Amino acid sequence: MSHLQQVTVLGATGSIGCSTLDVLARHPQRYQVFALSGFSRLNQLEAQCLQHRPRFAVTPDAESARQLQSALQLAGLNTRVLSGESGLCEVSGHPDVDTVMAAIVGAAGLAPTLAAVAAGKRILLANKEALVMSGALFMQAVRKSGSVLLPIDSEHNAIFQCLPVDFARGLGEVGVRRILLTASGGPFRETPGEALAQVTPEQACAHPNWSMGRKISVDSASMMNKGLELIEACWLFDVQPSQVEVVIHPQSVIHSLVDYVDGSVLAQLGNPDMRTPIAHALAWPERIESGVASLDLFKLARLDFQAPDELRFPCLRLARQAAQTGGDAPAMLNAANEVAVAAFLERRIRFIDIPVLIEAVLNREPVRPVECLDDVMAADRRAREAARAWLGQYAG
Ligand code: NAD
Ligand code: MG
Repeated sequence: MSHLQQVTVLGATGSIGCSTLDVLARHPQRYQVFALSGFSRLNQLEAQCLQHRPRFAVTPDAESARQLQSALQLAGLNTRVLSGESGLCEVSGHPDVDTVMAAIVGAAGLAPTLAAVAAGKRILLANKEALVMSGALFMQAVRKSGSVLLPIDSEHNAIFQCLPVDFARGLGEVGVRRILLTASGGPFRETPGEALAQVTPEQACAHPNWSMGRKISVDSASMMNKGLELIEACWLFDVQPSQVEVVIHPQSVIHSLVDYVDGSVLAQLGNPDMRTPIAHALAWPERIESGVASLDLFKLARLDFQAPDELRFPCLRLARQAAQTGGDAPAMLNAANEVAVAAFLERRIRFIDIPVLIEAVLNREPVRPVECLDDVMAADRRAREAARAWLGQYAG
């Protein structure tokens, strides 16, 4: 290969970021780390810089940037340390970058991901919240710049792998009847509704199959993760919410399926390890080793499926409704959920209050059309304010 692909990893210190660096380190003849970003755990970011020697690193603010800069200089590195959103956007849109792994969690990832899209980079999209917030604008920007958008979320990566290469012609055109989005059901799949009031952040973050950041772990437990993924699938594959069916599959081995008009159902299977979709998206349309072991079907022995229970997990219903409503409803759903999850992790509200808070915000705030990014950001702010007001009145 003549040119080493230059890769920016946004959110390098997170779960997806670390898995990405693991895959990149297996292929030094293909990839070079261009930039790394971290928001907390800056010692870890420093260690990652020492190992991967990026041209840039990005920290949250000027003070942390100054500290990291001097530590790296002492170690003999000439990595330049930038800070804040402008630093993130600079390393995403930099002319020398080929690929951007968008793995910041939440709304904070939107601006740098859009900067990468605007610059026509190859986008490896883990940050589903960005797409949920700004789906129509995001996809328009992808088409305009000619960015190659590859899903990292395991379900969407699976769907991508099960679709023909020309799926952008329209899923109807390529013979797809519907998408089957699998969900593990999370740690509370079997927990009776009454017991959900008492569950703790530790229990919510102990996912049975996947090791992930805390926010997405709580989303998986509440099934908001599947709701966000439903919206994500609608934008990525240009389908209606009614064409996406959620299927509980506790083993997390089938990562999703595509149902075709001739009765064929294609699935992508593998051990639940994010290095598979990461390696797939990095190398697509080629294949590279990821470090993930082969699936042992004999050990697995069985695969189970069941329908989701929207009574115990109302977040799925709320997300489906927001997807059907359109406009800025998904951006408000996402913002209210971020506030609710943070409040649950801080033990300010109970697990079962998460959907109550979100529904209260969505019922209170009128839905507006989205024409530009300012409309998205305004919806995000309005929903956060409404969610905080709700928390102010909360008396658990
Ligand atoms: P994580 O919490 O482990 O990591 C998040 C990263 O974002 C960290 O590097 C953190 O420093 C950075 N960050 C947090 N707040 C920030 C802010 N305000 N500004 C800039 N950077 C900030 O999360 P994760 O599990 O790696 O998930 C990352 C994204 O990928 C999420 O959107 C998640 O939904 C998605 N995703 C994760 C998985 C998984 O298996 N972990 C699977 C599918 C999708
Ligand atoms: Mg997923």
